[in-house]
Amino acid sequence: MASSSRHVVVVGSGIIGASCAAELTGRGFRVTLVDQALPGGTQAASYGNGAFLSPASIIPMSFPGMWRKIPGYLLDPLGPVAIRWRYLPRLLPWLWRYLLAGVTETRFRRTAGLLNALLRDGPDRHTRLAALTGQEDLIHRKGLVYAFADRAAYETEGLSWRVRRDNGIETRELDRDALHALIPDLAPSYGFGILVVQGAHCTDPGGYVAGIVSWCEGQGVRLTQGRVTGFLSEAGRLSAVCTDRETLPCDAVIIAAGARSAALAKLAGDRVPLESERGYHVEIPNAGLGPEIPVMPQDGKMANTMTRGGLRASGQVELSATDAAPDWRRADVLLGHLMRTYPALAARRDELVVNRWQGNRPSTPDGLPVIGRASGLKGVFHAFGHGHVGLASGPKTAEIVADLIEDKAVPAEIAAFSARRFR
Ligand SMILES: Cc1cc2nc3c(=O)[nH]c(=O)nc-3n(C[C@H](O)[C@H](O)[C@H](O)COP(=O)(O)OP(=O)(O)OC[C@H]3O[C@@H](n4cnc5c(N)ncnc54)[C@H](O)[C@@H]3O)c2cc1C
Repeated sequence: MASSSRHVVVVGSGIIGASCAAELTGRGFRVTLVDQALPGGTQAASYGNGAFLSPASIIPMSFPGMWRKIPGYLLDPLGPVAIRWRYLPRLLPWLWRYLLAGVTETRFRRTAGLLNALLRDGPDRHTRLAALTGQEDLIHRKGLVYAFADRAAYETEGLSWRVRRDNGIETRELDRDALHALIPDLAPSYGFGILVVQGAHCTDPGGYVAGIVSWCEGQGVRLTQGRVTGFLSEAGRLSAVCTDRETLPCDAVIIAAGARSAALAKLAGDRVPLESERGYHVEIPNAGLGPEIPVMPQDGKMANTMTRGGLRASGQVELSATDAAPDWRRADVLLGHLMRTYPALAARRDELVVNRWQGNRPSTPDGLPVIGRASGLKGVFHAFGHGHVGLASGPKTAEIVADLIEDKAVPAEIAAFSARRFR
């Protein structure tokens, strides 16, 4: 069947769904994008993330020796990674797989290599997508800086940086003078940096997603509001997508509902262990200072980025139910860290306006997204579970899914993203 006569429904209008809609409409498909809320709105992880488009984000969260840190995660509710006690029994199977995923260097390297396939040309892809959708001003290619107290602190992360270099990621060392020349507001406690040369960032991730969707609408994509509740099928093949408001007859559906994708995947025959790695941001519109090049201070494990909304610090990993109430003390941890990272900010603490946000990273235990055909229902495609790297890898994910829908050959490594790995 020609693409033009095929109708694809995309569930979810975060960066993954929006990228898929743009890719498919570009290939001539008829596309309907359905979301229960606004594209790129505050409900979406795509709204409040760190805005990094980093080829260096290939390092999995689970690493050799991580198990030793679990007691600390349980005991310190405000550390960079925390697990809510009440949620622990439900989380244990996921947590076990999570630990195993990075238990050896071989596994750690395998995950990094697979993520590299999704991330290596992320900045180029976003540059093209932004140009296509008339949003060139939102993507900046100035590199990304990882800041350390000193070289010794950097060397404690030796394996991660070796793996990055082995995957072809170009980095440049910055001594104290070079680091402070690039980031003049940075506290003197940072004396060493690494510049990820090809790194890029987006100055308004939520606005960018909304802009992609609005461009798609201009190309004929139908945006409809509703919560997708299930699928209809005929002879083992998808025939329609059901929302709480309408039935959408279609030839294919892409599940790109972020942290809420698992229930839909199950209806299509795949049980995916998907949890929320909840994260937070604080954004200061009247900061009056901040890094022109985004910074990741390694002691705080958070992204500091100048966005349209002001200086944003985003980070924290909180393992808890997707719908649990936010623990705003965690946002305040980010705020406290910002004050220490940019001392001039602390001097004006009382006059600062601070906006707080909490969102859900859609995370699998092995740190890889779920991209591929569903096992139980023909015509259903998965595109979710991008954890910490969904913004950066959206356009590449869209290309893979569109190739699968068109039955084109995809690289063999893509099989590693299939939901079948959890069987
Ligand atoms: C604090 C934080 C910092 C991050 N930093 C970065 C970063 O710097 N760089 C990076 O690349 N990534 C980062 N990420 C990760 C990135 O934001 C996510 O991986 C990505 O946004 C996921 O996109 P998505 O489209 O899958 O999901 P979402 O953006 O969450 O979108 C899912 C959409 O699906 C809709 N939906 C859900 N269920 C249904 C349903 N049943 N019917 C209809 N609609 C539905 C929702 O309303 C939502 O709009 C960060 C995440 C967080 C939380």
